[in-house]
Amino acid sequence: MNIFVVNSGSSSLKYQLFNWPDEQPLCSGLVERIGSAEAEITHRVFGVGAPAEALHRTLAVPDYEAGLREVVRLLTDGPGAVIRAPAEVGIVGHRVVHGGEAFTGPTLVDAAVKAKIKELFGLAPLHNPANYQGIEVAERLFPGARQVAVFDTAFHQTLPEYAFRYALPTALYTEQRIRKYGFHGTSHQYVAGQAAKYLQNPDARLITVHLGNGCSMAAVRGGRSLDTSMGFSPLAGLVMGTRSGDLDPSVLLHLLGPLGYTTEQVGTLLNKESGMLGLAGSNDLRDVGRALAAGDARAALALDIYAYRIRQYIGAYAAVLNGLDAIVFTAGVGENDALVRDRACQDLEFFGLALDAARNEACTPGLRDISQPASRVRILVIPTNEELEIARQCATL
Ligand code: ADP
Repeated sequence: MNIFVVNSGSSSLKYQLFNWPDEQPLCSGLVERIGSAEAEITHRVFGVGAPAEALHRTLAVPDYEAGLREVVRLLTDGPGAVIRAPAEVGIVGHRVVHGGEAFTGPTLVDAAVKAKIKELFGLAPLHNPANYQGIEVAERLFPGARQVAVFDTAFHQTLPEYAFRYALPTALYTEQRIRKYGFHGTSHQYVAGQAAKYLQNPDARLITVHLGNGCSMAAVRGGRSLDTSMGFSPLAGLVMGTRSGDLDPSVLLHLLGPLGYTTEQVGTLLNKESGMLGLAGSNDLRDVGRALAAGDARAALALDIYAYRIRQYIGAYAAVLNGLDAIVFTAGVGENDALVRDRACQDLEFFGLALDAARNEACTPGLRDISQPASRVRILVIPTNEELEIARQCATL
């Protein structure tokens, strides 16, 4: 059987096709700038034991349906073809950002599930509409496949109520569903599973640190998320590429009142102009690293703030877990940026962390243990694979 995994954004679409049960990726790809006359498609075919070969195309893709139709053409026809017909896809797995309190695991899509995802548009206006559209289009283009939704929030539905509730009047939770949801669940779940396997301890106490454009951490014990740094939206917690992370809510009131910002301007400021972009002038940690090496004081301070926030959460989550077996770094920055990992693990001897400088610097692929042999807590780098995790959850369902 083949499982096709789709991650639908408002102007982009990422996909990966797996052969099951051997978990062999057949191809992956990305359609960017959907809605423009010059959309770009990158399609990679994985030969068995051979490096992936990429096909690039620039063409007009007026809407999402046209984009997915083009992908189906690439999958089934021409030099990038890996299957003969859409009928060879048994399951389409969809990443859906917000599952609210309704979804705690992978879910077979039917009319009621679609209606529920639609109900959640209000909680995730930037993401759920695109995810919903992805499901509807995939239903038309893969009529013989089962559609499965895998939610970014589902893994964090195990948080105890004292961890997910805000200290606001109760009605705002019971009537408006204002609470912590947490995001990046698929990634935290995947790396936590890999780490537990590596440690040969299914009950391991783990702190997973996902540092990409968006950044979040989770406290995980026995494969269950106990707390996470993102909240009602992905804006809370760590300093991110362009998002502020934690902030005194009064700053918003000050912006909206005396400083005269509109709600929309505050949204743009906090989501798109803050974080490392606001502090250092770039949201890409590679730029910040280069600026630091060139002696830029703004970059140095930005990195200090970024790492300090991570260390604060490590301390908090060591308390949540009442101990710690491993810290896991993942995603673009977490997997690649040795300096960030070094800073994030600094001055944590009290918690039993001892980073091995040489292992931290070595860039070998796959899971890496970058702690000193004597470190009480293992420090791991584990490449995330959200697509594979989604496919696994689809297959399990
Ligand atoms: P997303 O959250 O969009 O899925 P990724 O996990 O792909 O993001 O991470 C993207 C970020 O990773 C980039 O913005 C960049 O800051 C960072 N990054 C990628 N490669 C490196 C690297 N070699 N060194 C430092 N940072 C990197």
